[in-house]
Amino acid sequence: MSASDDCLFCAIAAGQIPSETVYEDETTYAFKDINPKTKVHVLIIPRKHYANVAELAEDDPTQLAHMVAVAQSIADKTFHGEFRLEFNTGRDAGQSVFHVHAHVLTGEVLSE
Ligand code: C5P
Repeated sequence: MSASDDCLFCAIAAGQIPSETVYEDETTYAFKDINPKTKVHVLIIPRKHYANVAELAEDDPTQLAHMVAVAQSIADKTFHGEFRLEFNTGRDAGQSVFHVHAHVLTGEVLSE
């Protein structure tokens, strides 16, 4: 659970690697996914390092709830408040970056 020196999303949250900021506060950073799957595809991360959503939920459920609220706010601004929230958890579930991130998918009608 400790911050990893070679963690890509720790570096993005710290501003060491450029990203397109959508939202930020003391605990949380949101930025545009570089390979968007929908018209609006934003990643929300805690600044503190957790490998996945299960670790985050166990250690800091308030942070997780805050990330859901940030997702709602993004969807309110971009698509009448409706959105899909995905946490890929584990390599075989499609997780490729091992710093927890919520995919906010919105901005268009999602069929499945
Ligand atoms: O759930 P998963 O771990 O596969 O998601 C990682 C996401 O991080 C991908 O959607 C990828 O496009 C995004 N990414 C990014 N900026 C980077 C590296 C990856 O937005 N520099």
